[in-house]
Amino acid sequence: MKSHRNRLYEGKAKILYEGPDPDTLIVHFKDDATAFNAEKKAVIDGKGVLNNRICELIFTKLNEMNIPTHFIKRLNMREQLIHKVEIIPLEVIVRNVAAGSICKQLGLTEGEPLPRSIIEFCYKDDALGDPLVAEEHITAFGWATPGELDDIINMTTRINDFMCGLFSAIGIRLIDFKIEFGRQYDGEVSRVILADEISPDSCRLWDVETNRKLDKDNFRRDLGDLVEAYSEVARRLGILKEENGKPKPSKPVLVKSD
Ligand code: UDP
Repeated sequence: MKSHRNRLYEGKAKILYEGPDPDTLIVHFKDDATAFNAEKKAVIDGKGVLNNRICELIFTKLNEMNIPTHFIKRLNMREQLIHKVEIIPLEVIVRNVAAGSICKQLGLTEGEPLPRSIIEFCYKDDALGDPLVAEEHITAFGWATPGELDDIINMTTRINDFMCGLFSAIGIRLIDFKIEFGRQYDGEVSRVILADEISPDSCRLWDVETNRKLDKDNFRRDLGDLVEAYSEVARRLGILKEENGKPKPSKPVLVKSD
């Protein structure tokens, strides 16, 4: 189908279109899955719909808690209207339990609880493989100001507390997750808000009882059916009512400004 909207950017899992007014964009969640810096790729029918709905629920609750996010409203099964931001080139990773790269770096065992929650920063650069950086690098190279970094750390701590509670209430352990922030401009003045997405693509989520993985590790490590795992998260969050039907993708809808 021909899109009548102006496509601004296509990433690994999402497409950005111009929004109905200059301060907004439309984000489209694709079914594409990538891992290991896009060395492993697949199209997984239904993933985009699930991520859109799960992200909507989390961002709506964060907005209600006065943690500002780019989310304005969901437009259809695959798309959201969002505030336009200038992305801060950092992946902010929160770890509650050891898994993934920290196990390799520090010789920890997967599943080992960490002494306390840890916030890490990676510099967003695919060619460099998103290297781990210190706060010193961030302010020295001007990727964020010291004030912005304070805001990022404060918001990240609140987001982790909220997310741990949200998932623990539905029998899921939040092992770790990745978030990104952006600058929202009002003339010359900017403020930092949560951008990108929070979904099972960007979190590690384990069932409390069985340790079953309900996240993208199903794809990365061929552990099981990814859509079934994401559907389980959506069902427990009360988003997906159907017991076993995969959600049907909808066609993109043109949004007009009035
Ligand atoms: N993560 C992500 N995108 C990335 C890198 C990491 O969403 O480009 C998420 C990942 O899903 C996990 C957390 O950040 O929930 C920590 O990932 P880690 O650093 O352990 O890297 P990985 O083992 O995924 O390569």
